[in-house]
Amino acid sequence: MIVGVLGGGQLGRMLALAGRRIGAQVRCFDPDAQACAGQVTELVVGNYSDKAALGRLIDGCDVVTYEFENVPIEAAAWCAERVETHPAIAALAAAQDRIEEKALLRAHGLEPVPHMLVESEPQLREAVEALGLPAVLKTCRGGYDGKGQVVLREAADIPTAWAELGSPAGEGGRLVLEGFIAFSREISLLAVRGKDGQVRLYDPVRNEHEGGILVRSRPAGEAVDPASLDRARAGITSLMAGLGYVGVLAVELFETADRRGVGEGGGGLIANEMAPRVHNSGHWTIDAAACDQFENHLRAVLGLPLGSTRTICNWEMRNLIGSVPAVGALLAEEGLRLHCYGKAEKAGRKVGHVTVVGV
Ligand code: AMP
Repeated sequence: MIVGVLGGGQLGRMLALAGRRIGAQVRCFDPDAQACAGQVTELVVGNYSDKAALGRLIDGCDVVTYEFENVPIEAAAWCAERVETHPAIAALAAAQDRIEEKALLRAHGLEPVPHMLVESEPQLREAVEALGLPAVLKTCRGGYDGKGQVVLREAADIPTAWAELGSPAGEGGRLVLEGFIAFSREISLLAVRGKDGQVRLYDPVRNEHEGGILVRSRPAGEAVDPASLDRARAGITSLMAGLGYVGVLAVELFETADRRGVGEGGGGLIANEMAPRVHNSGHWTIDAAACDQFENHLRAVLGLPLGSTRTICNWEMRNLIGSVPAVGALLAEEGLRLHCYGKAEKAGRKVGHVTVVGV
């Protein structure tokens, strides 16, 4: 069994490690010869437009998948024309554009953040008037880990926000203005869908971000409004069925303290974004679930039976950002499982994570 993976970062690396356990060979593809998956598995190096390199990726593959959502659609589609490719290209395309993504979420009963398309500074003014302040201006495409977004707190922030993200001197392209959600918690739901249509969900996860980067995840426990959690689960199941989705999908949600201002179908949970891939908020599953998200993603795309998503012990996951602290001190913590990604240290870069089990 050979699985081709577009992308060779830590998610590809963890897919490869999971593949080893179940006898599946993972072959990653990345433009960067130093991509960290290459330390543990075969890595094809090439640009996404390089068909010869893509040909080396898919050669002998049973299935192709991807490990980050900004894989150029043309590259994924080129693979899909030649080899079975999951999840569906439509999911990848939607995840690459915040407006399309919100429309897809809404179509399946997952109420998105109130938002408006912004393509000029006057439009930004209109959107600020309509949605109120504070608000968050984001590029529709290409943003991740809090990049490509600016919080507007007062009207005077409009020109600077536009200059940073919208003007030709800024990042350019389409923008979206979102109302600022005064959430009480950020929650993510991870689901896996098999080729036979079976869907399994992991327990909800509570996430804490700093500067847009995930720093800590813990079990979310009870939702403020269990009915809205049920609706979110049903929405994800519907979305996956609608797209013929195969593999792991993550949906990030804002939990509001009350139901005010939230449209029907959302309840106390408002959908922020989705990731058509394994997700950082699911890393705990390696150490604290019966079958982890990486193995389940591989099982799904290979058409194998899905594993149990049951949580088997209490846990807390912390990202290691920028650098890995002294390993001896880290490992002294009772119940700590260390996962290093083998990446060079750099401010703001995810270089590893720890899961403390039995907490
Ligand atoms: P994103 O890249 O859209 O996931 O945004 C990164 C983080 O910024 C989120 O996890 C939130 O903590 C915060 N954030 C993004 N959009 C909003 C919003 N509309 N209201 C409040 N916080 C937000």
